[in-house]
Amino acid sequence: MTQFVFPPPVTPSVAVAGHDARFPVHRIYCVGRNYAAHAREMGHDEREAPFFFMKPADAIVENGQTIPFPLRTQNLHHEIELVVALHAGGTNVSLERARELVYGYAVGNDLTRRDVQFEARDKGRPWTTGKSFDRAAVISAIHPAARIGHPESGRIWLSVNGELRQEGNLSDLIWSIPEIIVELSTLFELQAGDLIYTGTPAGVAALRPGDRVEGGVEGVDTLITTIGS
Ligand code: MN
Repeated sequence: MTQFVFPPPVTPSVAVAGHDARFPVHRIYCVGRNYAAHAREMGHDEREAPFFFMKPADAIVENGQTIPFPLRTQNLHHEIELVVALHAGGTNVSLERARELVYGYAVGNDLTRRDVQFEARDKGRPWTTGKSFDRAAVISAIHPAARIGHPESGRIWLSVNGELRQEGNLSDLIWSIPEIIVELSTLFELQAGDLIYTGTPAGVAALRPGDRVEGGVEGVDTLITTIGS
């Protein structure tokens, strides 16, 4: 048995709807600008190919939690997203086989320190400090595809204190879920336990201490988070 100089961290994991067993998280991949209207509000051409960034696996925050207001930001943004959870991996996955990798789906919030992200973007620096901070990957329970199927359309929305902020439809994704898996697998060896945040519709905006954030994807789940002080 391997000995460690101090106890290793616990494997980050997410609840699975209808199961006692949990989903162990390996990596968190995120797609940028995958809805045309959001790409436009960020100042980009809607036909630009999406691109990827990552968050640490231990940035996961589950449904119903209160998140302490993150460090070093005056402009914390919400981004409601469909999340894909993989139970198999590989490289150079074919379009025909991509869905075989999918265990299930969840609702996620890709929390973003927009001021920090834009400062990095404008200087040509990595997005890490804007996107990959502690507790930046909010997620609902994972719902197995065996039970809910593979959603291709359906409303995706987010409200803050009861006021609707973001609204779109999964049918408006620029790159489909199988296409995202294919592309990612040409860049990384995908593995069981990987999560993919698939991009956010238009309407991203700032959160303040005390805000109650509620968002959902039709046919998947509803995600509720409170922003702390
Ligand atoms: Mn996002």
